[in-house]
Amino acid sequence: MNILTTPDPRLRIKCRKVNKITPEISDIISQMRDASLEWEESHPYELSAAMAAPQLGFDRRIIIIRDDLDDKKNTSFTALIDPEVIKTDGKIKKDYEGCLSVPAIYGLVPRPTKVKIKALLEDGTPVRIKAEDSLARTLLHEIDHLNGILFIDHIKDDEKAFFRMNDKGDLEPVDYLTEIENNPALWGKDE
Ligand SMILES: [Zn+2]
Repeated sequence: MNILTTPDPRLRIKCRKVNKITPEISDIISQMRDASLEWEESHPYELSAAMAAPQLGFDRRIIIIRDDLDDKKNTSFTALIDPEVIKTDGKIKKDYEGCLSVPAIYGLVPRPTKVKIKALLEDGTPVRIKAEDSLARTLLHEIDHLNGILFIDHIKDDEKAFFRMNDKGDLEPVDYLTEIENNPALWGKDE
């Protein structure tokens, strides 16, 4: 299963609302779960925390979030359909983020520490979720995907905020300006 990577233009669209949960939607959700776990098998140091439908090329507002963000052995995910941010709160904090669609690059991304969202569960039940810290960050990252936004967009060019994971699983600083020069399209800077 192919996870799209930047600069694929399908990662940059505003996705359509689902509204009605059909068998086609359930099928997209199971493909997302399979793709997340398949990705994890080939990335021993990383956990596949979440995924958004556009990362598999589906133009739909669907995200899946790992039920336990700290335990790789727990492979269950919750799907959230048509998720919307109701409110953000708390402090703005920088922390590391990576993305299946931005291979091997990590960044220190500023985000609010608290978020309130509403969404539908896979069976159509409406839910409201209050989240903090890493779950809030993950939800905001995934909802961004549904609007064509990637985590790299939140980092200002002049900050020393980018890292690359080496083959031992350690993060090493990346010289952002050199990286852009070498591959402007990857960073969305080719306009
Ligand atoms: Zn992502």
